[in-house]
Amino acid sequence: MEITVLASGSKGNATLVQTEGLTLLIDAGISYLQLQKRLMFHQINITKIDAVLITHEHGDHIKGLDVLLRKEKSQVFLTEHTMNSTPDKLQDSIKLSQFHLIKPNEKFMIGGLEIMPFSVSHDSSDAVGYVLYNKGKKFVYCTDIGYLPDRDFDILRGANAYVFEANYDVTLLFTSARPFYLKQRIDSVKGHMSNTDSAYNMVSLVGINTKYIILAHPSEECNTAELALETYRDVFKEYDKNIDDYVVLVASQEEGAKTIKI
Ligand SMILES: [Zn+2]
Ligand SMILES: [Zn+2]
Repeated sequence: MEITVLASGSKGNATLVQTEGLTLLIDAGISYLQLQKRLMFHQINITKIDAVLITHEHGDHIKGLDVLLRKEKSQVFLTEHTMNSTPDKLQDSIKLSQFHLIKPNEKFMIGGLEIMPFSVSHDSSDAVGYVLYNKGKKFVYCTDIGYLPDRDFDILRGANAYVFEANYDVTLLFTSARPFYLKQRIDSVKGHMSNTDSAYNMVSLVGINTKYIILAHPSEECNTAELALETYRDVFKEYDKNIDDYVVLVASQEEGAKTIKI
């Protein structure tokens, strides 16, 4: 399985996942043209996208979906509540043959890829993350999450690779010029995950097979790659783990992250 974050952050999210027989996206939150451009950069023609897994209906996750579905034959997978919360224009453009309703905690297959959606705590109708299994490898995609409940640790533990939210640095957020209600929204259990919470969760999730950790959905105003990495380093050290045992990348809005292979 090859995983390429194409864009990550509040202005748009899209991640490319490739297996032997399948090319899929997790979220289509950048414009069709941007998607086409970024896929071309990785030698992928946009017509090759077999399927799109949607996490939730916020614009930064579905912005490019409408045009993608009009132009291409891609299938789309999303929960019923998410579907009902998308703009009418998008619902009109999805052909019946194109969309598939999924339920949190119910596995489904696309080609040979096994996919497990799981609920995440976020201020949208029915947000999910995804666990993908292929040829004995496990990949976890989890962003836009206020906190990770205990029940999810067993599902998410020990993956070969993670794309995991590290949205903001706590100090930068609370000293930023953002209005207080927005700071509270971001910091709430239905908002986003701080670098610190992200690192404390990840230190319990990593297992013997874990190689890659891609820190995702960074706030442009309230985070830096250095701060996120430093936080991870400190927290892992606190738990007698060495962050250098893992390949840790920080995804960005403009560059995404380099391709990883598991
Ligand atoms: Zn988002
Ligand atoms: Zn969101």
